[in-house]
Amino acid sequence: MKKILILVTAALLVVAFFALDLNRYLTLDGMKASLGQFEAQRAASPVGVGLAFFAVYVVATALSLPGAVILTLAAGALFGLTVGTVIVSFASSIGATLAFLASRYVLREAIQRRFGDRLKAMNEGMAKDGMLYLFTLRLVPIFPFFLVNLLMGLTPVRTLSYYWVSQLGMLAGTLVYVNAGTQLAQITSLSGIVSPGLLLSFALLGVFPMLAKKFMNFLQSRRVYAKWQRPKTFDRNLVVIGGGAAGLVTSYIAAAVKAKVTLVEAHKMGGDCLNYGCVPSKALIKSSRIASQMRHAENYGLSAVDPKFSFSKVMIRVHEVIAAVAPHDSVERYTELGVEVLQGYAKIVDPWTVEIKLNDGGTQRLTTRSIVIAAGARPFVPLLPGLDDVGYVTSDTLWDEFAKLDTPPARLVVLGGGPIGCELAQSFARLGSKVTQVEMAPRIMIREDIEVSDLARDSLTRDGIDVLTGHKALRCERQGDRKFIVVEHQGIEKRIEFDALLCAVGRVARLQGYGLEDLGIPTQRTVAVNDYLETLYPNIYAAGDVAGPYQFTHTAGHMAWYAAVNALFGDFKKFKVDYSVVPWATFIEPEVARVGLNEQDAKEKNIPYEVTKYGLDDLDRAIADGTAHGFVKVLTVPGKDRILGVTIVGEHAGDLLAEFVLAMKHGLGLNKILGTIHTYPTLAEANKYVAGEWKRAHAPQKVLAWLARFHAWKRG
Ligand SMILES: Cc1cc2nc3c(=O)[nH]c(=O)nc-3n(C[C@H](O)[C@H](O)[C@H](O)COP(=O)(O)OP(=O)(O)OC[C@H]3O[C@@H](n4cnc5c(N)ncnc54)[C@H](O)[C@@H]3O)c2cc1C
Repeated sequence: MKKILILVTAALLVVAFFALDLNRYLTLDGMKASLGQFEAQRAASPVGVGLAFFAVYVVATALSLPGAVILTLAAGALFGLTVGTVIVSFASSIGATLAFLASRYVLREAIQRRFGDRLKAMNEGMAKDGMLYLFTLRLVPIFPFFLVNLLMGLTPVRTLSYYWVSQLGMLAGTLVYVNAGTQLAQITSLSGIVSPGLLLSFALLGVFPMLAKKFMNFLQSRRVYAKWQRPKTFDRNLVVIGGGAAGLVTSYIAAAVKAKVTLVEAHKMGGDCLNYGCVPSKALIKSSRIASQMRHAENYGLSAVDPKFSFSKVMIRVHEVIAAVAPHDSVERYTELGVEVLQGYAKIVDPWTVEIKLNDGGTQRLTTRSIVIAAGARPFVPLLPGLDDVGYVTSDTLWDEFAKLDTPPARLVVLGGGPIGCELAQSFARLGSKVTQVEMAPRIMIREDIEVSDLARDSLTRDGIDVLTGHKALRCERQGDRKFIVVEHQGIEKRIEFDALLCAVGRVARLQGYGLEDLGIPTQRTVAVNDYLETLYPNIYAAGDVAGPYQFTHTAGHMAWYAAVNALFGDFKKFKVDYSVVPWATFIEPEVARVGLNEQDAKEKNIPYEVTKYGLDDLDRAIADGTAHGFVKVLTVPGKDRILGVTIVGEHAGDLLAEFVLAMKHGLGLNKILGTIHTYPTLAEANKYVAGEWKRAHAPQKVLAWLARFHAWKRG
């Protein structure tokens, strides 16, 4: 009620202002015409006129009335440079703060509630750099004065800070305008203010924020680096810690632009993806998929067979695949590319020095201008009583541990219902393990929409997996050689016997042991970095799993470009890492691939959307391949073909997604996909058909009705 009252009062005042034609005073001509009269009054009662002018200025700015420039000029004309500047400086700041407070009181809560998550980044940015933004906006008035007041009211900026930063920021501009006002009688138009002298002062105002930002950065880095002794010269331009996807791409880019770069890897070149992650898991998935196809060969008119195989040979193949890919990431290849590769454990000892404990003995110290931390992540092992006693494998150890087995574990418990847990559960089930998958959340693959989780669950269940969602692992127990895990569901405990236990409950960034603690580099779940991937120390960057927020090989590579370029060329230009279009896929059968928003994200973030869905059961190629299940689901801006996100469930979903990733990245809508020839018969046609579905749903019905009449008329 109070808010409505404020709005109504403000609206009435604005209406009255225009109804009484008071705006005639706030034009250059009006002001000049009344100048003589005002001057006479001021001479008679300088304090009274000064206070009245002050009050008028405050009200005009608080109500966001047009004419602040004219009033400022008038202040110069009436009161001279010094008094005029004092009056305008305080009046404009007070008026601006009143407008700011009104906007905050009336609108902020509703706006923050309505746009919640979408304002999160802005709120965080404002909390961190808000004063600098405000100062810049005040100094260089590229946005209208009243708009800054109203918009700033919606942010979490503190009122007192808002007041004094506004006053300080506007001071230079106020001086320029009040000074111009002292010449008011000579100024014939507002553009007359733009004399060469004034132009110069505005040009200076233009570069001032940049200089101010540089100055503030300088002050901040002085504070951060204060206790360290900076070397006079450096051995390297860049030292990269970790030889996984992020570290490899970083060092490759650095070498390509002729920087002197050293890459340090403590264990295996290629990191998790090559040795424990993407590569072995996809090799295993292939074997298990063929086993499944053999078992279901009757779907293709062939005789179904129970696949006969040696599990150890499957695991040998997995290791052969790793070995076949390994040369891409090898010491030899990177050395050839111009990267110095050191095999050892790196520790940052000061912001410019890395100490390397070499694997073949000895220690080496390197000074460097910049450092990129690409130390990756490791599997998270839950604190489950009895876990160590029964023993377990993780994605780090299973490839070597299971390679020792002749047959897959007869009874395998997979802890975790995320992508890694699902991929491995399905693979081992298809290779003959009796798999029980335990997930605490109400469904597997919880980040995807419910229908996706349901399809994934159906598929895993068809492969014989006992998918236990809503089950919390409590403890592990051993009875002689027998091993059990105790889980709880709706208050009831259940004991599951197993031969092997795979922990796949997430991966945590590697944060300890290599100097972050000693340098005081802040970490939460990952190393804390800004938009440029800089840590607390602007010359130390982090990329890949260690920095998050995504844990994929392709995002690690993407971040690496920013880390390398900012580390090497940041003195000239820095780039903010762009996470606007990030795709990913889970390689179960059917594959699940996504880019951008799904429905649950859109709802959570309060983003309006339309859904268009195309079922793959209708697609010729999928029918021929016996893979006619799943869908392509596209979220678009209501009434427009702009893509907000895509989820594909089906054969080769990860590959099909690429077209949408490209479209989103380059702002191409569904109409463009529809207008593109897709080869027949391919799975990729599904992308065109979903665009066709969207087009049909948005067909201009009125135009079509007229067309029907037109054709009827043509038929006679
Ligand atoms: C089972 C599994 C399946 C996966 N499947 C996929 C997939 O299909 N697609 C996908 O995109 N992603 C997948 N991932 C994720 C992917 O593996 C990671 O996102 C990727 O490896 C991250 O690369 P990175 O360079 O950040 O870290 P890493 O690959 O972990 O590399 C970090 C390297 O740093 C080294 N290191 C750490 N500290 C030091 C130090 N102090 N000194 C020297 N060296 C150090 C480590 O030894 C390691 O080699 C999968 C992961 C797993 C576990």
